[in-house]
Formats: sequence, C-alpha cells, structure tokens
Amino acid sequence: MEFEPVIGLEVHAQLKTRTKIFCGCSTKFGAPPNTHTCPVCLGMPGVLPVLNKKVVDFTLAMAIATNCRIAAESRFARKNYFYPDLPKGYQISQYELPIAENGYIDIETQGERKRIGITRIHMEEDAGKLIHDPNRPLSRVDFNRTGVPLIEIVSEPDIHSAEQAGAYLRQLRAIVRYLGISDGNMEEGSFRCDANVSIRPRGSDVFGTRTEIKNLNSFRHVEEALRFEIARQTEVLLEGGNVVQETRLWDPDQKKTVAMRGKEEAHDYRYFPDPDLLPLVVEKQWIEEVRKRLPELPGERKARFTREYDLPAYDSEVLTASRELADYFEACVKSYPRAKQVSNWVMGSVLGYLNAQGKTIEQCNVSADHLAQLLSLIDSGTISGKMAKEVFDEMWQTGKSPKEIVKEKDLVQVTDRSALEAVVDAVLTRHPGEVEAYRCGKTKLLGFFVGQVMKQTQGKANPKMVNEILREKLE
Ligand code: ADP
Ligand code: MG
Ligand code: ZN
Repeated sequence: MEFEPVIGLEVHAQLKTRTKIFCGCSTKFGAPPNTHTCPVCLGMPGVLPVLNKKVVDFTLAMAIATNCRIAAESRFARKNYFYPDLPKGYQISQYELPIAENGYIDIETQGERKRIGITRIHMEEDAGKLIHDPNRPLSRVDFNRTGVPLIEIVSEPDIHSAEQAGAYLRQLRAIVRYLGISDGNMEEGSFRCDANVSIRPRGSDVFGTRTEIKNLNSFRHVEEALRFEIARQTEVLLEGGNVVQETRLWDPDQKKTVAMRGKEEAHDYRYFPDPDLLPLVVEKQWIEEVRKRLPELPGERKARFTREYDLPAYDSEVLTASRELADYFEACVKSYPRAKQVSNWVMGSVLGYLNAQGKTIEQCNVSADHLAQLLSLIDSGTISGKMAKEVFDEMWQTGKSPKEIVKEKDLVQVTDRSALEAVVDAVLTRHPGEVEAYRCGKTKLLGFFVGQVMKQTQGKANPKMVNEILREKLE
C-alpha cells in the first residue's frame, strides 16, 4: 500500500521589538541573567500588563503578508501550567479569538506551485530560560527572555512532504525578514518550529493519527526528522500496528525521533480570558496604514525577477532569499544590465565566498558597483573570464576596484592580433611534429597549441582570438 504524508507546522517567530510585550523591559539578547526584568515580567502580585503597540503592528504586517483575515476584536488568554521558567504560572497567549485567521502562502517545489493554508496567527509572550548545571543537580533560571513577544503561525495540514515543509518554512522566514519583524534565525531560536505529521493511504480523505515533533533547530533537522518520522509511521502501519498520538523529540545525533510524552500526559492548560487585559480592537484604518507600509514581499519579488530580468525560477528564488541579497543584485544590474551574467556571478562567486566564510551579503567586501565594473571589463575584452576570477579573488581580499587591480597586476588581456600571431607562429615552428599530426586529422591537438600560447603570454592572450588564429594557420 502507498501512503501519503500529511504535515502541519506550528512556527514561533520572535518579534524584533525594542521592549517586551507587556512591560518596558529591553528584549536585547545576551545581557547578564535577570537584568532585563521588572515586577510585570517577573509576575509579582498586583502588577498589570500593558500591551506593546509595536507587537500588534508587527503581527498585523505578518497577517496581511500571509493573506489572513484580521479580527476586529481579539482576546488574550491565560494558558496555565507549572514550570520554573514561567514566573506567573501561566503564559499570556491568544486562544479562542486570535488576531488573524484563514490565510495562506504560496510555495514552490521542483517548479510546482502549491498553496499552504494558514489556520491562525496569534501573539504570546515567551518564557524564561533554564540553565542546567552539568556538574550538580541544580538548575538556574534567567528571566530576561520572559515576556519577549512571539507570534505563533499555525499551518493547515496542507503539506505533503519533507521538502514542501522546508519550502514553506523558508518562505515564512523570508517573509518575516522582508517585513523586518523577526531575525528568523532557527539556530539561535528566534524562529522555532514544531512539526505535526501523520500518514494515510494515498487517495484517502481521512486523517491518520499524528505525532508532534519538537526540538527542531534548523531547516535540515526539520526535513530529516520528517523523513524519519514518515518512514517510522509507514513501518508501524505496514506491520499491522497503530501510530500512537504523542509528542516526540528529534535526536540530531542519532538521527531519529524518540517518544517524549503521550496523549494521556498532555497538559490541560485550563485556558481562560485574561481579566487584566482588555479585548484588543483593531480599527480598519490601522490595518490600512500597515498595508501601505508593506515592502515588496519575497514571492512578488521573485516573480518580478523572473519576468523583468528573464531569469530561471531557480535564480530568482536564490536571489530573493533575503532582501539585502536581492537589493545587491538589483544594484549591480542597474550599472551592468546583462542580468543572467550578474546572476551567475552573484550565485557562483559572491555566494560561494560568503558561504565559505559564513558571512552574509551585508559583510561582502565586493560592492555591487565593483562587481558590475568587473563584468564590464570582461565584456570589453580587457580581461578574460579566467582572469576575472583572479581579479574577483583580489577584490574579495582587498575591497579594491577591479580596474585598480587589473592595473596593479598588469592583467590586461592581449588582444593585439599581430602580437598574438607572432606568438602562434613561434609555437608552431617549435612543434613541427604536432603540426604534422594535426594536419593528418589529430585535431584534438588544438587544445595543446592553445595551451602553449597561453603559457607564452602568462595567460593573458584572448583565448577566442588564439583559437581563431590557430585554426587559420593550421588549415
Ligand atoms: P494542538 O493544539 O494540539 O497543537 P492543533 O489542532 O492546533 O493541535 O494542530 C496543530 C497542528 O497540527 C496544525 O498545524 C495542524 O495543521 C496539524 N495537524 C492537525 N491534525 C493533523 C494530522 N492528522 N496530521 C498532521 N498534522 C495535523
Ligand atoms: Mg501543538
Ligand atoms: Zn519587565
């Protein structure tokens, strides 16, 4: 029997506001433990939370960008559970009446477009952080993160493969980054994902029993964990067993999921509306203001790149993965309009160098302007494509302009026809045997002659011209 995976993702994105969601404490990461705290975020008796307007503003931007219906009135609720990182004994979250529902985003995998529904987006506060002492049976708690604003984005179970799950997450992350509302960093925890997965016989329209996978700290982990879990559930069913509804943890070292808690041990959160917070009313005008401020979104920009610059879908996807990279590409194309050439150099050399050094485009030593100049130098025949790689390397090391480097290193390509003819003549005279063989049909020797000429000119000869001259002379 063939099975179809069914996947729904719950994503938490940390919002980049200056202060926390219900108090004025800083959200800055990396401060000494418990220095960004106050009676409100520590949950002292008698204090009152005040909603941070910026949190709502950011959430509205996300809701609009994901085509959600925005509730004119939404509510905050208390989600009750006991854990030492939660000073109030409850987390303030939205439950029955979230701020946004019923949206979608479009993803693309292997050239195929697919719409993934967004069930809801709601706002909530983050909990603190436990630090376990490796040497003693002791844990410490840091409340700096307590009350840092999060949005939770819940997808419909519309995803049917690990690859689609990855594409969906990347798209969501690109959106929060374009909007400037979250760093979207999975490794650092500002973008977290829990994955719900079940399988069912292909063609069936009822859902199978699902498991929820936690501890997914990178895109790779999400995809690996889903592949593992789909295979595990398939095996259970094929052996005549039943999938148990439970929460499972991804173990990245062993590359498998392990059972964490079952349905019986699931929390009863005893949600109820928080009496300390008024219902949140969002006027139409506010939504329109946010809508007007929205930048061009990754999906739109990608489509425009394909259309306007005539790029393959793959190129557009890579180039629009971040707003800064897309800006870099467009700045370059402005002064050097052969877009596919620019794309090749940005995807090959620029991203190659950046990735190798773990840097982002903002830290790139080669400005868009300099890259454009470099490509113009190739087109004008001043340098060859091969020399350009060398020049690029030097640009990367020094930040100098390509013209400066070409001059300093005396890299100018030899395109003087008579000068090259003289070199070719000399080479042919020196290798009469090879010339003879070539003329008897061993035309593969052309490469040998080209190599000799390049050697004579320290690689500066224009290869196209050398080829032409050689062919003429060897006729
Ligand atoms: P909970 O509150 O327990 O996390 P929800 O009903 O809110 O449960 O669902 C959470 C996520 O699980 C959603 O993304 C949803 O699409 C997904 N989901 C629900 N049922 C299934 C299923 N049978 N298989 C896979 N995913 C599912
Ligand atoms: Mg859940
Ligand atoms: Zn505080």
